[in-house]
Amino acid sequence: MSRICMIGTGYVGLVSGACLADFGHEVWCVDIDAQRIADLKKNIMPIYEPGLEDLVRKNVADGRLFFTTSLAEGMEHGDVIFIAVQTPMSETGEADLTHVLKVAEDIGRTMTRPHVVVTKSTVPVGTSRRVRETIAAAQREPIPFYLASNPEFLREGSSIEDFMRPDRVVIGTDSPEAEKAMREIYRPLYLLETPIVHGSIETAELIKYASNAFLAVKISFINEIALLADAVGADVATIARAMGLDRRIGPKFLHAGLGYGGSCLPKDTNAIVHIARQAGTRMSIVEAAIAVNAKLPEVAMAKARELLPDLSGKTVALLGLSFKPNTDDIRDAPSRKLVAMLRDAGATLRVHDPVAMDNFRRVEPDLVYCDGPYDAAGGADLAVLVTEWNQYRQLDLERLGAAMNGRRFLDCRNVYDHGMMAEHGFDYRCFGRTRS
Ligand code: NAD
Repeated sequence: MSRICMIGTGYVGLVSGACLADFGHEVWCVDIDAQRIADLKKNIMPIYEPGLEDLVRKNVADGRLFFTTSLAEGMEHGDVIFIAVQTPMSETGEADLTHVLKVAEDIGRTMTRPHVVVTKSTVPVGTSRRVRETIAAAQREPIPFYLASNPEFLREGSSIEDFMRPDRVVIGTDSPEAEKAMREIYRPLYLLETPIVHGSIETAELIKYASNAFLAVKISFINEIALLADAVGADVATIARAMGLDRRIGPKFLHAGLGYGGSCLPKDTNAIVHIARQAGTRMSIVEAAIAVNAKLPEVAMAKARELLPDLSGKTVALLGLSFKPNTDDIRDAPSRKLVAMLRDAGATLRVHDPVAMDNFRRVEPDLVYCDGPYDAAGGADLAVLVTEWNQYRQLDLERLGAAMNGRRFLDCRNVYDHGMMAEHGFDYRCFGRTRS
């Protein structure tokens, strides 16, 4: 059993903390957000994540999972300290390390005995070195400590399963002490024969960016094929299926549509571009992937205008606001760009999302928030499917059409097809698929 202090109780810290407790470790979760900690103590989850509430409740009840706002308390109990705070994109596109370095400073100031300090946040190559310097500079007296990098690959919406049964665990260390501590923490996964990839700290840091950049490239690649398919009358869904059946390519992340969003791919692609530039080289393929992704909301607007040339004074129903299904996360969601563009064009927006409406209301208070997809469609001149939540995959198209003011449907996730929509009298647009 390891004793762990997890700093940050967001999507990564809370899920990692709860899962590590479930592995049998003792985990103290620390956050500066007092409301969040007070809620967690009452088993109120700060984020929507399937299965999280039960997992937290169980491990709290079993006496392995604790919440506190006090770093000193967390460090008193934890031998291994994980940093899992946010690393948002700065205005210039680099990773903003303010929170990580602030935590490092606090760790240094609070340290009274040796610890292993693990960076779980996604951070540029070289950050662990800065963490080391920051901790050492803040210490009241020199105390040895050891560093590790342990980037996280969980996906929001399926994060517990991803953490419990990962494709691999990546560990970067530069000392036997840190390596031993990390191997002990992930021992339950060794028993499941999970591949553990061990390298230097710098290698581990770069693995995370390389993986996310590759996924972004794959998405942008199929989206560019969709634009080409639109131009030449081919069908991207069939192309993607055939490509995906090639085992060298694989079927995942080949779904054409409105592009990627969320709190990771946009910021991590921009960060690796900066990392490369600072190192005197280029990530030109990633730069191209970013450019393709950035133009997709405009492509969606052009398709909306094919259906409804003058959007001014019209009502548009948006189905889905979160950046992908099964999460309430709206950070860098494509819906936010679409909302801004449709509003600028003079449209009134009626919106629905199964779980992300509270978060969206905070940044867009003036939209009409609706009770369900059919309510959102009420009187709408155009319906736009933005996020492919399961509940939008089997819409009663008759009911939807009857609620609308004219049957126009823009499918930004290629959930439906031309034939089905034509049967119900819809004028329909999607991304890169033929009408046959
Ligand atoms: P988040 O914004 O959901 O959570 C961050 C938490 O850290 C917040 O609760 C915040 O209050 C807390 N925090 C900030 N400063 C603190 C401090 N000084 N002391 C204690 N707590 C503090 O962020 P997230 O989505 O969990 O992402 C965390 C990191 O993990 C990022 O680097 C991100 O890139 C990476 N990551 C995220 C995902 C994902 O799907 N969200 C997946 C893999 C990796």
